[in-house]
Amino acid sequence: MKLFSFRPFLRDVVGELLYQVGLTKPAQAGNHYFTIVTFHRVLPENQLKSYPLAEIAVTPEELAWFINVLVTYFTCGPLAENLTRWQTGERTKRPLLAITFDDGQRDNFLYAKPILEAAGIRASFFVVVNNIEHNEMLWHDRLAYALSRAVEQDANITDQRLSQLGITTTTATPRQMIINVVEKAKMLTPAQRLMWISLLEDAVGGPVCPAWDGMMSWQQLQELVQGGHEIGSHSMSHPILPGCSEDQIFDEVNQSRQILQERLNIPVESFCYPNGNYDARTLKALQQAGYHQAVTTQWGPNQLGTSLFTLRRCDIQSQHTRSRTGHLSVSRLAWRLSRFHPPVH
Ligand SMILES: [Zn+2]
Repeated sequence: MKLFSFRPFLRDVVGELLYQVGLTKPAQAGNHYFTIVTFHRVLPENQLKSYPLAEIAVTPEELAWFINVLVTYFTCGPLAENLTRWQTGERTKRPLLAITFDDGQRDNFLYAKPILEAAGIRASFFVVVNNIEHNEMLWHDRLAYALSRAVEQDANITDQRLSQLGITTTTATPRQMIINVVEKAKMLTPAQRLMWISLLEDAVGGPVCPAWDGMMSWQQLQELVQGGHEIGSHSMSHPILPGCSEDQIFDEVNQSRQILQERLNIPVESFCYPNGNYDARTLKALQQAGYHQAVTTQWGPNQLGTSLFTLRRCDIQSQHTRSRTGHLSVSRLAWRLSRFHPPVH
């Protein structure tokens, strides 16, 4: 039995040291950098257990911890507002930071909104318009739930079904297999991807969605707007934009903005690339559609001079913020948000 692991120990000690000497303390970076953090899902422990892509979720308790640390060290707010403050040269005592939530899941309304309100801060929510309109899960969740059901039913059938679809997986655990298949599905065209999902859903006896899961409603988005939060576009259908035709890209970008503006009676200035993917055609479409800024999944804080259409963000995951004792650690979070942290892919 391994009683002591040196690497996590060293990592914690170095992380603590950098923090204590002030190198990774957010105030050290001052207002030269603009940090944007990303959250996706906020799920209570019992729901998290049955959610197949748990890496992109935090529990409400963990979110409350993160928000508490962020408000201690930063001037937190929605993206459009804080980016403008930073760009126009406003210099706050604590550095400016934007809090963003991707995908528009109902759990954001149920669990994130009260936590943000209790902390007295506002955030940006990037929503997928078609999925809001039809209360339909995002394609990666549909695929992951169907695969998870297939594994429960019979792992051999899953392998057979996947190989019929031309997917070969050689991974050890069902969890890793699901992540790998979702990654492979990202390479497909939207039509091919839907075909995969439909075939799998048919094979397991129909679409799988726990009763608690779903997207925010227009009414809930309206309440977020009333609370001063920003609503940004995360496209019409969460496609991988570089895999789409030029017309499809423009529709995804432009229509989603128009519909959000009309339905919520707000200006929509910010866009979030589904899966972080963009190309030159996407950048052109965003500017034609009238957006002011867009966020990627490229890691790190933003420096002055960064293009407003390729803003970097730091994806917050509990598993990477824990010390070796398993507790969420301020010095680890500070290290991950600092300019010294290497890019994460
Ligand atoms: Zn997304």
